[in-house]
Amino acid sequence: MNERIREKLSILADAAKYDVSCSSSGSKRKNDNKGLGDCGAGICHTYTEDGRCVSLLKILLTNFCIYDCAYCVTRKSNDIKRAAFTVEEVVDLTINFYRRNYIEGLFISSGIFKDADYTMERLVRIAKKLRTEHKFNGYIHIKSIPGASEELIHEAGLYADRLSMNIEVPTDNGLKLVAPDKKREDMTRPMQQVTQEIIRYKDEKKHIRSTPNFVPAGQSTQMIIGATGESDKEIMTTATTYYQAYKLKRVYYSGYVPISNDSRLPAIGSGVPLLRENRLYQADWLLRFYGYQVQELLNDANPFLDTDIDPKLSWALRNMDQFPIDINQADKHLILRVPGIGLQSTEKILMGRRFGGLGLEHLRKMGVATNRASYFITCNGHHSTRDLAETRIKQFILRSSQSKYLANPVQQMSLFA
Ligand code: SF4
Repeated sequence: MNERIREKLSILADAAKYDVSCSSSGSKRKNDNKGLGDCGAGICHTYTEDGRCVSLLKILLTNFCIYDCAYCVTRKSNDIKRAAFTVEEVVDLTINFYRRNYIEGLFISSGIFKDADYTMERLVRIAKKLRTEHKFNGYIHIKSIPGASEELIHEAGLYADRLSMNIEVPTDNGLKLVAPDKKREDMTRPMQQVTQEIIRYKDEKKHIRSTPNFVPAGQSTQMIIGATGESDKEIMTTATTYYQAYKLKRVYYSGYVPISNDSRLPAIGSGVPLLRENRLYQADWLLRFYGYQVQELLNDANPFLDTDIDPKLSWALRNMDQFPIDINQADKHLILRVPGIGLQSTEKILMGRRFGGLGLEHLRKMGVATNRASYFITCNGHHSTRDLAETRIKQFILRSSQSKYLANPVQQMSLFA
């Protein structure tokens, strides 16, 4: 790699690290034409401990930008070194890194140089070249440019595994405040188009097997947390709306890293809200897989998630009248609501209890965190201590738990390490 490319890579990989919306689950692209790589389930799932994906070549095409979003290191008013790759350079880097087993795919994002279509056209050309000229079957995630034309979004969808359109600021008022050049409809219109085209292509594929894939890993978005003043309730309400309206695979929550002295934003030196980010991911998980509604977890009286305990435990302690449940009798949706019992252990309980009454020891072997669950359940030989006050239960659980969450932020790995 020559020095100039190395320098560009250093600038443009560093600038891309703020975008967390790049996990790649869900694609099944096959290598069927003696091409390069494949994208079976399970690929590209390497994350740093703070949740950032590192197994993709994650770069910006350029960090030039005509816009001036206050939260963004790439904004035009920021006095930083600028660089831009050519289409060929990104293609060469991807192929070379893939062959050396450094990466399993490409996540390409970009500042907006000239205008939305000019930039998007280059992103599409990168993906097209990789697919058609280099027969690259690895993972490609393109971050679409707000305001890009329908034709380019359509073409991107034919070559990328995933498209994302970052909404960045959770509320429209917040967006107006810190990103006045951006329009919400420039983000939602392409999302709407991609949603409809995914459905159309899937339908066509049922009748015509040769129908090409269209965004097979679906679309996602990212919200920046803690830059503007939104509550967790507003953030989760926005996320739910987007999940429903655009069938998103994921909403990513990215704690704001203070990079600017702009008075509209938290000052440089203030902490990155990583714990808050983590709690939002937990709440998101509960909404998507455990059947909770936003208003159960957050309401006007409690618009922020607890920081000392996770949202599931928090809900359970606020709803002790729903417990204890009998683990050998209760419906699945109630078992799922017991702190310490996850999706997999719920399935094991439902299966296991067919063969006889389950006790605490059985649950432990199934992976249940009985130090939590025991306060909320009865089972063979175990009666919950329901006379304990919620505050006492919380104390006991906190004392017996060790958080997996790391208080210290871990930086994304360097491509040059
Ligand atoms: S348009 Fe994107 S790259 Fe440009 S300043 Fe705004 S967030 Fe940054």
